[in-house]
Amino acid sequence: TKWVLSFGDGSAEGRADMKNLLGGKGANLAEMSNLGLPVPPGFTITTEVCTYYYDHDHSYPPELNDQVRAAVARVGELVGAGFGDAANPLLVSVRSGARASMPGMMDTVLNLGLNDETVEGLANSAGGDRRFALDSYRRFIQMYGDVVLRVDHAAFEDILEGVKDTRGVSLDNELSVEDLEQIVSLFKEEVERETGQPFPQDPEAQLWGAIGAVFSSWMNDRARTYRRLHDIPASWGTAVNVQAMVFGNMGETSATGVAFTRDPSTGEKVFFGEYLINAQGEDVVAGIRTPQLLTKASRERSGEDKPSLEEAMPAVFAELERVYQALETHYRDMQDIEFTVQRGKLWMLQTRSGKRTSRAALKIAVDMVDEGLITEAEAILRVEPSSLDQLLHPTLDPEAVRDVIARGLPASPGAASGKIVFTADDAERLAKLGDKVILVREETSPEDIHGMHAAEGILTSRGGMTSHAAVVARGMGRPCVSGAGHIRIDYRKGEMSVLGRVFNAGDVITIDGAAGEVMAGAVATIQPELSGDFGRLMVWADGHRRMKVRANAETPADARTAREFGAEGIGLCRTEHMFFEDDRILAVREMILSDREKGRRAALEKILPMQRQDFVELFGIMTGLPVTIRLLDPPLHEFLPKSDEDIQAVADVMDADPEHMRRRASELHEFNPMLGHRGCRLGISYPEIYEMQARAIFEAVAEVKRDAGETVTPEIMIPLAATRREIDILKALIDRVAAEVAQASGLELHYLVGTMIELPRAALRAGEIAESAAFFSFGTNDLTQTTFGISRDDSASFLDDYIEQGVFEKDPFVSLDRDGVGELVQIAAERGRKTRPDIKLGICGEHGGDPSSIAFCEEVGLDYVSCSPFRVPIARLAAAQAAI
Ligand code: ADP
Ligand code: MG
Ligand code: MG
Repeated sequence: TKWVLSFGDGSAEGRADMKNLLGGKGANLAEMSNLGLPVPPGFTITTEVCTYYYDHDHSYPPELNDQVRAAVARVGELVGAGFGDAANPLLVSVRSGARASMPGMMDTVLNLGLNDETVEGLANSAGGDRRFALDSYRRFIQMYGDVVLRVDHAAFEDILEGVKDTRGVSLDNELSVEDLEQIVSLFKEEVERETGQPFPQDPEAQLWGAIGAVFSSWMNDRARTYRRLHDIPASWGTAVNVQAMVFGNMGETSATGVAFTRDPSTGEKVFFGEYLINAQGEDVVAGIRTPQLLTKASRERSGEDKPSLEEAMPAVFAELERVYQALETHYRDMQDIEFTVQRGKLWMLQTRSGKRTSRAALKIAVDMVDEGLITEAEAILRVEPSSLDQLLHPTLDPEAVRDVIARGLPASPGAASGKIVFTADDAERLAKLGDKVILVREETSPEDIHGMHAAEGILTSRGGMTSHAAVVARGMGRPCVSGAGHIRIDYRKGEMSVLGRVFNAGDVITIDGAAGEVMAGAVATIQPELSGDFGRLMVWADGHRRMKVRANAETPADARTAREFGAEGIGLCRTEHMFFEDDRILAVREMILSDREKGRRAALEKILPMQRQDFVELFGIMTGLPVTIRLLDPPLHEFLPKSDEDIQAVADVMDADPEHMRRRASELHEFNPMLGHRGCRLGISYPEIYEMQARAIFEAVAEVKRDAGETVTPEIMIPLAATRREIDILKALIDRVAAEVAQASGLELHYLVGTMIELPRAALRAGEIAESAAFFSFGTNDLTQTTFGISRDDSASFLDDYIEQGVFEKDPFVSLDRDGVGELVQIAAERGRKTRPDIKLGICGEHGGDPSSIAFCEEVGLDYVSCSPFRVPIARLAAAQAAI
């Protein structure tokens, strides 16, 4: 087997489409080599080795050793140096790279191959620059010590800071040769003290140590957390890239930087990035020094005075521009690139599709269609449906009063208010309790990811636009202000101060990640604009999808929002919500507590006009569109009065004894209400309830017809049916009421009667149920509960264990269980269609707004999905993606 693939020198054994084997980084290094771009030569150890490693008790395939040795030798030949050659050493970086990019999850080791001898050789081959060689060595010991030998990196930083303090310098690059020598020897002592072994001097041993560390880091906590949050399977594994070093720390004509081919925050078509002169590797991202901007325009715009790369190294910049444009055209997508300049020569170290805010994703996709780079269908596929959520979220009200306390970088847009927390753990803890929090840190690291996820927003006092906090926040869609330099954080006291004002943990602040502002207190927000790029993409999506998208809505406000978001009707109007409103609940209680039909009818008479009015309004908003109305579903006890005061109030209107009321209420108690007297079971035993609802619906239809001349065709839905007989009984009742209203009004009424499929039996007997039901709507919340026998309200106690231990891949209430629940849906759809070829099929569970569940609905051929109003755009896009 070929476990190692080489790249560099204008060609490569791999390609961009070999990400599964080479990981993203390795595949793109190969692709850049093939494109003839300047890439330091190297090789990729495949993800199959990672799989082998975990399948074989952390050991390697027997052929690997020889393959690695040959590949190292080839790299040495290409750069004219030898691995371990004391006079002219080849140094390499060892870099992880999984299929999907996992920022910061895996640790890179630079300058590998250095030891007490080769460091002198390196100095010589750099023209006698010992400062540079020692700087590289101390970086290597620290990185290798941290990543491979697991010596606490803080120990190295303490040593470094200590030497800087005694020398009275503040920046790493101000250290002298003697300082660096001292640091190197202190670092080595530290390693020996911590590990009981001298720092490894054999380059071969260093290399295998680093390779092993990359493979084992695949299973570290940070990597697992990231994979869990992003649904990346552990089985994918990581590749290891070994690549000849190029040096950004060879003095003032050398540099290192990162860039995006377009603005990752706004999507604007401007080259965007940061660099540091005389620096190496991750210095830019880690915020060691404040980086400089790449272009003159962005420098001028920000009022920065340190020169841009365009000004400091014009020739390099011109080359970089040529390369980034070639990359963007080649990949036909915005790229995130990493580069290093060694003594005036540009080297490319990485390219990948750049992470971006959803706003930027949208703008870039739409712009690229206009530029002729991609098709409409590709643009549709470029935008992650659930990311639209961010665009539908509030921004600060421009009119609102703001008490701006600090400014930082606009690292990730969106506005958020919350209580200050200073640790990721606090963020998670308080968020679980229902608090909204803003995570405030000097800077973030991969250890903080869970807290960043739990927080509404993130604020850091250090770090640039490409700092960890900024990158991760954009990926998660959390607003973020980074590098708010005036903020001083005292973690021990749990407070932050800014220009003399002190804020404690728990105080509320607001951040605006689009403006980079931090404000005291909570600031009012406004809803976003749905036109422009968003509107255009949605129109394209609508042109590509087959399924209709409806909304689950019952209030006029929700129905209006749904229409604004493009809903094509209502897929689920839950009438019980209409029963809960303040002035109605009393009548509802009166109905429930009457022990005679007569009493119930009297109470229902009071509810009828209110319910009719609801429908009139709803039909008015949804003119010309289908409206599916579900008859009363929840168990009656949910409406029961609980407090003495409430009981007294019902007793008063009914002129009854409160004690009697209380007894009647306790008779209605159920042990397992989810499986109790609810849905059509209520309709069967208390037909007057559904009768009233049907009357309200038909009278509303008649009223709208009479007053507005509009024809409405309601779809009346019978919940929780398991048998055809239930439908027959209730349909007869509905038909009778329809006939009565038609006669009284002299109008012809059109309507459908159908059912929810939410019990396994109903799915299996769908063939005969379809003889009576004109449509099915899959109520996948209940269908999931009844198929698994798991109550949604009680599953929290074990769901995490189930996911952790791989029983469930995902929460089945969030993402439809294709295998089980999905099979029932499929069976019901098939059997239903067989009986009634034109049967209407839809889904109205929570899953109707989940992109992967929507893809399933497309596969089964449902006619529509229905979801909450705010998810309608997501569903429109997901339905289009599913159809492409
Ligand atoms: P990450 O996946 O965290 O971005 P990388 O493997 O890309 O880690 O390494 C981080 C940084 O290390 C790169 O951006 C680059 O600056 C530096 N680096 C990696 N390999 C080399 C190399 N061969 N020569 C010089 N710098 C390198
Ligand atoms: Mg990194
Ligand atoms: Mg990188």
